[in-house]
Amino acid sequence: MPITNPLLNTIRSLAGSLYADLVALRRDLHRHPDLSGQEARTAFRLANTLSSLGLDLHMGLDGRGLWADLVTDPARPTVALRVDTDALPIHELNRVPYRSTVPGVMHACGHDVHAAIGVGVAALLSQMRADLPGNVRIIFQPEEEEITGAVRMLRAGALANPTPQAIFGLHVAPLPVGQIDWTDGLFLAGFEHYLVNITPEKGYYRPPAYLDAVARRCCHAILRLNRWHLPETWPEMQAFWSLMHQGDKGLKKFTVYDASLNDEDPDAWHGQFGLGIKAADAHLRIAALGRVRAALNPVCLGTHTRFSLEPMGAMIDMRNNPHLVRSTLPALEKALGAEHVCHFSAAFPFNCEDFAYYTKRVPGAMYWLGGANPAQGKYALLHTPDFDVDERCIEAGTIAMAALLFSSLTAVAQPSARSV
Ligand SMILES: [Zn+2]
Repeated sequence: MPITNPLLNTIRSLAGSLYADLVALRRDLHRHPDLSGQEARTAFRLANTLSSLGLDLHMGLDGRGLWADLVTDPARPTVALRVDTDALPIHELNRVPYRSTVPGVMHACGHDVHAAIGVGVAALLSQMRADLPGNVRIIFQPEEEEITGAVRMLRAGALANPTPQAIFGLHVAPLPVGQIDWTDGLFLAGFEHYLVNITPEKGYYRPPAYLDAVARRCCHAILRLNRWHLPETWPEMQAFWSLMHQGDKGLKKFTVYDASLNDEDPDAWHGQFGLGIKAADAHLRIAALGRVRAALNPVCLGTHTRFSLEPMGAMIDMRNNPHLVRSTLPALEKALGAEHVCHFSAAFPFNCEDFAYYTKRVPGAMYWLGGANPAQGKYALLHTPDFDVDERCIEAGTIAMAALLFSSLTAVAQPSARSV
């Protein structure tokens, strides 16, 4: 049974009536951003708002993470929405009334918007409780920027008692406000981090400054391997989205290399640098390591040094569940208008997401939510000091996520339906 027009009308109308409160909430979170690991104020603010909705609240991670359960009948299936809540160590340059009041800390990745959407969906669905064919869990996750929050929330039980049958997520993006972009496969890269140590060849002495100079040459050699570069302006970004829409062949199997010396730390070990490899899958990351070695060998040979790679951490790539995406797409298109729902044939190669860990446990899907409005000077370029969104994306995101949760719940609630 697809989601009906009267239900969609109710979703749209409730999202409209909640809009002013959600904007106020987003602005409050924006004024008071919390860095990863310090989200107590944010979680308290969200819990306060959610507690008036009659939901079951569960706090975790020392009061920094929470999830809210909207239970209509414990015997029926549950689906989940995850939003993230932390801010970044960036000093805000925007001159807006809701500017960050914390010097050097800013919601420059839109997690304040995501959190407001999470509350919006909770508020909206709690008013549609009688129509819901199951239960909904909204997860408010801290520490996404450190990619440690998802695993900690999972350990705290965010996908237990009951285990949801599907999970959704979203992220604002420099796309036109109100647009949703989806993939039915790879959504974001996985990565591997290494510490590269340059040491003198046996029998040679190399002073610290020399080792640093070799390390710098090695970084340049690695960066030259890049075919893709992070778009930094609105036109560059739009050109890149266009490649993703077309499913550019090279982009489908991307690898992105990052290499840099820690110049800011005077105590850093000489001849060391960080290496990051992002790629569409684990096989490509293995191949990329081979290319890195081939790039470093001539530099080290010519300077009588050698290199070693020390693994420093890795993260899985984030893949959307194709059946979940396809089965809920009609509801999404109906909710927002098909012209506002666009298909990406490739993943964005420059970012990672710890939402990946939820999708390893249950079928999941994440979506890009357009938040930009160039006419208003709001470009939604992530991790920049003038990041801001057209707040109408909060309404669109609330409608989209509510429709997806409704649709997936309707699908899993039918006895004959395939599990999503
Ligand atoms: Zn983010």
